[in-house]
Formats: sequence, structure tokens, C-alpha cells
Amino acid sequence: MSEPLHTLTLAELSRRLAAKQVTSEEVTRAFVERTRTVEPKVGAFLHRDEADTMAQARASDQRRAAGKSLGPLDGIPIGIKDVIAVKGQPLTAASKILQKYISPYDATVIEKLNAAGAVRWGRLNLDEFAMGSSTENSAYQTTSNPWDLTRIPGGSSGGSAACVSAGEAPAALGSDTGGSIRQPASLCGIVGLKPTYGLVSRYGLAAFASSLDQIGPMTRTTEDAALLMQVLAGHDHRDSTSLKQAVPDYTAALHAPAKKWKLGVPRDFFGNGLDPEVRASIEAAIKFYQGQGCEIVDIKLPHAELGLPVYYIIATAEASSNLARYDGIRYTHRSTKAADAVDIYFKSRAEGFGPEVKRRIILGTYVLSSGYYDAYYLRAQKVRTLIRRDFENAFQQVDAILTPTAPTPAFKRGEKSDDPLAMYLSDIYTISVNLAGLPGMSIPCGFTKSNLPIGLQLIGRPFAEADLLAMGRMFETAHDFHSRRATL
Ligand code: GLN
Repeated sequence: MSEPLHTLTLAELSRRLAAKQVTSEEVTRAFVERTRTVEPKVGAFLHRDEADTMAQARASDQRRAAGKSLGPLDGIPIGIKDVIAVKGQPLTAASKILQKYISPYDATVIEKLNAAGAVRWGRLNLDEFAMGSSTENSAYQTTSNPWDLTRIPGGSSGGSAACVSAGEAPAALGSDTGGSIRQPASLCGIVGLKPTYGLVSRYGLAAFASSLDQIGPMTRTTEDAALLMQVLAGHDHRDSTSLKQAVPDYTAALHAPAKKWKLGVPRDFFGNGLDPEVRASIEAAIKFYQGQGCEIVDIKLPHAELGLPVYYIIATAEASSNLARYDGIRYTHRSTKAADAVDIYFKSRAEGFGPEVKRRIILGTYVLSSGYYDAYYLRAQKVRTLIRRDFENAFQQVDAILTPTAPTPAFKRGEKSDDPLAMYLSDIYTISVNLAGLPGMSIPCGFTKSNLPIGLQLIGRPFAEADLLAMGRMFETAHDFHSRRATL
């Protein structure tokens, strides 16, 4: 009982709250104080309101004292990526164009967290509009990887990953369009789950690429991810792509007797570009599952190598359309230098958006323009179908697919920021999962010799989150990678 509260998992904090061994005020203060201490080094938060957060914690304690606890998340502080709307709080998407924006409403996932009694704790840094893999595209600040402060935490949910990894919150929400939950989770040594497309409402998430975006949990353990998924998942009539799917009991699935899964390994993913230490850890993880009686099957995903080009057509096309709303007229930054009404659009957008966002808008507008639409956008949609079919074929044979989450461990700040293509390659293993709409999870599966975390990706059939969590848990119970802490 003597470990500092900020080192405990969400599940353990929840048990101690339920047993009245601690109060939410004590728990929340522990994270607030930890954040004050380490935040100058980590830089995960764009905004914190300590007074509001402590008031939420006290309200939780009053509920519990009155015998009206709202469940396992009641009184637990949760960090929020700064693309998810919280009423009355800033939402910048790490962009200058939204510098002064205050959200007038709650995202559906925030309504759900509120109904579960969770304490909203701060706004977390990201790549501007979630475009990037290192959080260096934030217009406000860079975030450091808690395992090595000279390195990036991954992205775009780098603030969320660093915050959990550094013990500034027990859990955080991220969003994933091409890898933005899983890749930073991998690089920071935590669990990150991207749900099946349509399982978690996107209402109140600043849209990047609407056919790919999903919100999901970033936690220390699979048990914590299960607790959050239980609250986040479910149909929402305000999101037209939300699916009417029954939500299983994720925690029960974790504790069900171990199964002998059939696991597919796409050997083509283990070629050039994969760091040797990452490869060795993934191979060891595969051997572990084999040792548990799981059958390992070599599989092929023949169109996976087209994932990256297809993604950079579809995601940029959707982004160019979604970001048209930031026009300087309604609720965003308005240039003071504009000569006339049309000039407001040009100057406000030129001043408000950073270079990567501009690159994507230009690319997306190009692939949608008449004359190029058929050659790029339409073709990309067709290849997207082929990528989805590859997975469907694989899932005829196997229950899940194992791959590295990212080709390398965390890289140095500045190492790839001048080379967009090198940066885009960070998502080579995660992107096709979004294109196919499947669930994917990264769990800590090892460390390099220089003590940088390595992540294993588990990809499942649609709505197989419970299976992925059970598979992750199987690995976790036999290893201690998830319980190691960065020294800060
Ligand atoms: N890194 C990818 C990109 O830059 C994916 C980002 C994401 O998932 N939001 O688009």
C-alpha cells in the first residue's frame, strides 16, 4: 500500500476507491502534483484547470459517501486529447486556427465519461489536427518521450501517450486515423486500443478523415482499457456512421479461461525497414503465444503495401473537405490583414494552419479535383476494398493477426521532421487497419538495449475488441513490460 498513487493502474485505483481506502480528492491531487513536477520535462498538456478538476473529484467523493457511486470510473482522472470537445473548455486541435475556440458542447464520449463519474483532467498535446507521427506538428509545443526526453513520444496522440507513461494520469483518450493511438502507445510503453470503425461515437471529435477516425483508450494495462471501452462503446444517433452493435462485457472477457487462439503472422511485414531489436521482440512474443498452445499461421496480406499511398489519398481528400469549415468567418482565427471578404478566407487560413496541414489540404484538393478524381481518389477507394478483402480472407483462417506496431522505437526529436515521407513510414503497420475499419491494439512487448519501449500490434475481426483484450492480457500476465516505469 505504500506505492505513490500516481504509479497505480486505473483498475487498482478503482478498487481502492470502492474499498474507501482512498478518496478521489487524494487520487486526483496525486496526479495533479505529479503533473506539476514532471510536466516541465514532458510537455504533454496544452491546458489544465486544476481547480475545476479538484472540484470534480470532490463531487465524486460526495456521491460515493451518499452511496451513489457511478461505477468503476467514478473519481478517476482521465486526460483528454485536445481534439475531443468538452463543454466550456478550449479545443485547439494544436492549431493556431482554433487558438481562441471554447467548445459549447460535450462530445458523446465526454457525456459518457461524465455519466460514469470520471474526472476530466486537462487537454493533451497532439500533431496539429492529428496529422503526424511525432507530435512535432503541434503549433504550441513539442512533447518529450518520458523514456528518453531527447526523443519524440510518437503521434498524433503523443500528449496522451506521454501523459499516461509519465504518471500524469492513469488513462487518457486518444484518436486514431492511421495509427495515432497505437504508434504513440508503442513508443511510450503503454496499451492503446483503436476500436472497430463505428463502435465509438465520433460526435464531438474534430474531424480529420471521417471514414477512418476513431476515439479509443490509452492506458497502462488491458484491464484498464477494458474498463474504459465499456463506457466509450455504443451506438449514438448523432454520429451517422455509429453502428447498432451490442457492447459485450469486456472485463468478463479478460477473466474468461484462456483460449488457444489461431494467430496469423504476415511474414512480409518483417522485411526491410524493421528495426532488428523490434523484430526480435515481436518474434519472442510470437514464440510466447505458441508456447501457450496458440497456433501460429503464416498469412499474406498482398495489398498491405499499398496502404500508405491509398491512405495519403483518402485521408487528405477527406481532410481537405473537413477543414474547409475553418474559414475565419464563423468561429476560428480571423486575419486582421484582410483587404476584403474573400481575402479573409485566404489570409486567415494562411496564418492559422501549419505547414503539414497545408500540405494535406493541397494534396487532398488535388486528388479530388476534376480530371484527377478518377485517377487518384476513385482508384484509391478500389484498392481500399482490396485491402479490406485481404483481411477478410485472413480472418477465414485466423482469429487475430500479430505485427509490430511501429517499425522502430521512438526516434530523436527533429530526426524526421524535414522528411514527410520518412515520417509517414512510421504508420506502415497501422494504417491498413484503419482502411479496413478493424480493431487494433498495441501492447508493451519489450525494450531495446537503450531502454526504449517496443509495442506488439494485435489486429482483430470487426467488433473483436474483447478477444484482443484477452489475448493482450495473456501476454501481460506472463511479462512485466507494462509495469515498468520511466524514471523522470
Ligand atoms: N500519422 C498518420 C498521419 O499523419 C496518422 C495520424 C492519425 O492517426 N491521426 O496522418
